[in-house]
Amino acid sequence: MNPSCPKCGGAMDDGRIPIPLKYLFGYKSSDQKHLTMESNVDKARACVDCGYLELYVNPDEIRKKRKD
Ligand SMILES: [Zn+2]
Repeated sequence: MNPSCPKCGGAMDDGRIPIPLKYLFGYKSSDQKHLTMESNVDKARACVDCGYLELYVNPDEIRKKRKD
């Protein structure tokens, strides 16, 4: 994974969002199967220079939940 910030080129710090938000803040594809849950954000990265924040869900989980 590219270690530098996509906005300013600064260093990125690996982390996560607050645990309670993990279950409130997720992602659901428009092509996702009915009756499947949103994918939780399980990883986050922040730039230590400009504060830019990236959120990640498990890509395997998204692929698995999409309609064929
Ligand atoms: Zn930055």
